[in-house]
Amino acid sequence: MKAKNVVIIGAGPAGLTAAIYTARANLQPVVLEGEPSSTSDQPGGQLMLTTDVENYPGFPNGIMGPELMASCRDQAIRFGSTMKTEKASRVDLTSRPYKIWVGDPTSTTPTIDTHTVIIATGARSLMLNLERENDFLGRGLSTCATCDGFFFRNQHIAVIGGGDSAMEEALFLTRFASKVTVIHRRNRLRASKIMQERAFSNSSIDFLWDSVVEEYLGESTLSGLQVRNLVKDELSTLDVSGCFIAIGHLPNTSLFIDQLEMKPNGYLITEEGSTKTAVEGVFACGDVQDDKYRQAVTAAGSGCMAAIDAERYLEALEH
Ligand code: NAP
Repeated sequence: MKAKNVVIIGAGPAGLTAAIYTARANLQPVVLEGEPSSTSDQPGGQLMLTTDVENYPGFPNGIMGPELMASCRDQAIRFGSTMKTEKASRVDLTSRPYKIWVGDPTSTTPTIDTHTVIIATGARSLMLNLERENDFLGRGLSTCATCDGFFFRNQHIAVIGGGDSAMEEALFLTRFASKVTVIHRRNRLRASKIMQERAFSNSSIDFLWDSVVEEYLGESTLSGLQVRNLVKDELSTLDVSGCFIAIGHLPNTSLFIDQLEMKPNGYLITEEGSTKTAVEGVFACGDVQDDKYRQAVTAAGSGCMAAIDAERYLEALEH
């Protein structure tokens, strides 16, 4: 089997941007875009779960997340990327060429050999896993205040979680919302002291302690939450038109355990200012290595960096 120049694992903004760049550099990239296993697990990454995207440059009137991803995919194909609607099931990064399996991970024969790998497998927001959660995503339910806060001007919004992310989202949302209610399952926050103080001193934020959301209410868009107070064991309804889930993120890095360096929270480690991992010829871009910015445009930017890093690495190999 002739080794490929580049295999890109993942097809969100980072993976597809890496595909566009490596395809235009004539490297004939192969993109393992994943395969749909549920509505919340589809090729295209987290933007497939959003409706309007208004902060991606170039679209003054906004664009739907799935439409943006479909356009990026078409653009990658136009320059010669091969898209495979399959998931990598195993990788071997211990010797070159690197080996990637699709399908049965126990097979003795890898599916693809490749000189470089660009990892763009992204991250996913932890969810409450309640009924109709996927239906409401982008219709009142969100996992990103920076992306969607703007849509909730002068409305009452709930934020779920008690960590730094929840406090950050709640504080950000007070710029738009008439009121923000933080719903936390305990009576003490996990967030750092400084974030707690900021949230407590903001008069637009109130707290529902010892409380969990049990049901999303509404027809096609969210109109409220059914909340249980765990101490009193009482149910109540909170009338909100927006709900932001901020209970943490998980990077999709299980394929790389024991092969690539990770931070304690599971995100891949890349060399500062580049997309290089500690394994030569293996690059990581997008949310899988970014626990800080997590934006489509920053993911796309790092996808471009990974493509250029891979191209230069291949050039150096040839010489
Ligand atoms: P986190 O610290 O793990 O907090 C998650 C919060 O969600 C916790 O309060 C947890 O409750 C709650 N939670 C988890 N699962 C839940 C569930 N199923 N139902 C209801 N509540 C649930 O996550 P994070 O806030 O995303 O922060 C991750 C890391 O990034 C942290 O180290 C944090 O300091 C850092 N960070 C820093 C900043 C900043 O400094 N500006 C901003 C964002 C994130 P319990 O408390 O009961 O466990």
